[in-house]
Amino acid sequence: MAQPGHVAVIGAGLGGVRTAEQLRSAGFEGAISLVGAEPHAPYDRPPLSKQVLTGAWAAERVVLRDLAALAEIDVDTRFGVPAVALHEGTVELADGTTLDADAFVIATGADPRRLPGQPEEVHTLRTLDDALSLRAALAGAKSLLVVGGGFIGAEVASGAAGQGLRVTVIEAARVPCERALGPEVGVLCGRLITEGGVELRLGATLTRFVDAHTVELAGGEQVTADVVLVGIGAAPALGWLSRSDVDVTNGIACDASGRVLGAPGVWAVGDVAAWADPVRGKHFRHEHWTSAVDQATVVARDIVGAEPQPRGLPYFWSDQFGLKIQGIGHPDLGDTVVRLKGEGLAGGAVKGTVAGYFADERLVGVVGFGAAKWVARYRALVGKGADRAEALALE
Ligand code: FAD
Ligand code: NAP
Repeated sequence: MAQPGHVAVIGAGLGGVRTAEQLRSAGFEGAISLVGAEPHAPYDRPPLSKQVLTGAWAAERVVLRDLAALAEIDVDTRFGVPAVALHEGTVELADGTTLDADAFVIATGADPRRLPGQPEEVHTLRTLDDALSLRAALAGAKSLLVVGGGFIGAEVASGAAGQGLRVTVIEAARVPCERALGPEVGVLCGRLITEGGVELRLGATLTRFVDAHTVELAGGEQVTADVVLVGIGAAPALGWLSRSDVDVTNGIACDASGRVLGAPGVWAVGDVAAWADPVRGKHFRHEHWTSAVDQATVVARDIVGAEPQPRGLPYFWSDQFGLKIQGIGHPDLGDTVVRLKGEGLAGGAVKGTVAGYFADERLVGVVGFGAAKWVARYRALVGKGADRAEALALE
């Protein structure tokens, strides 16, 4: 296949900017346009719920590549103008202009979910502007209520508790992160939260917002805080494609090279993209940093016709209450959790715990709490699907 003359990348976050960079690294000499809804240069999101929130980092530090650095690799930028539609060969922008290209890469990420009746003043966290607004609100507050005990909820709770706020987390499930990490390891996430001085209300369902500071729970109890944050997951940013031919039922369905099904010349990467996942046997969205970066490399090489490179295992991390939680592989596919290292799964210290997830007696994932050295060493065993004896024998 001949290389396209012009690639338009829609979405100037992590996946979008890495795609542009990887196209150049793979030798692409044609034109690249990078379209972004936000006015900012591409920036990194993980520090938003960590260092930016606590003020340890100034906002400028999250920039991935500024305008000068994008010009250096000859990328034409259109920032502050969202795409509103994609037709064959053309993307339409909100300012009424259009951009014609031979290939398109969709990298529009995800939008935070909101609850019915959620007041405008209640915070969500996805963008740099969201983080700065939350940081300013927390600076003048004594208490924080977090709805949702997932990654955002736990990281923000950790930062706010560290700054001396009284923090409550409401989680509908029996343990935090149950869907991603399972009930046994979810208990450890819950312990980190409570041992960090945060009140964790499990099995608590919010029935309505009384106002921007008070919520009502099933049973009628009301909980009030100076600041309320909702972190109940994110939905792929697909609204702008509703007038297009692309199937947007649950993320953009792609093959294992990121080619959008039924849309020749269109690829998708990152949180918005549901790639064919050979391990799961279905299309799946991996909403993690490393996945967006890996997919950008695969797509750039596919566009220029370069040999594909071997894919790494899925990986995520989260910083909470002074510990780094790291996951490798597919913990959610495990049918059994086995204590590999440390005492957390036996009721002891969470720090140093490594949990192994087995499916049909093969190691499919590992999650560690403040155990970076061990997690790195288990990577190869997850990669080859080691059996329980081999996993337990690792010294
Ligand atoms: P994004 O980085 O969200 O980029 C999408 C971009 O597209 C955005 O800039 C958006 O403005 C733009 N856009 C949207 N619609 C349009 C449109 N119509 N036209 C043009 N542009 C548009 N992962 C980890 O593994 N570890 C972490 O510790 C971690 N921490 C995180 C903390 C926070 C607060 C958040 C929000 C996410 C975190 N993640 C973390 C997840 C990780 O950041 C994402 O998986 C990653 O950013 C996905 O990259 P992306 O390019 O798909 O989406
Ligand atoms: P998330 O990790 O999916 O967690 C959302 C949590 O809220 C889940 O535990 C969910 O439970 C719970 N929940 C859902 N509806 C609820 C309700 N009505 N009331 C109370 N709890 C409810 O999503 P997130 O924390 O909002 O993060 C958003 C995105 O940012 C995700 O893509 C995430 O991967 C990414 N992110 C990643 C990191 C990281 O990797 N370190 C850090 C921050 C953000 P159920 O699962 O049972 O629905």
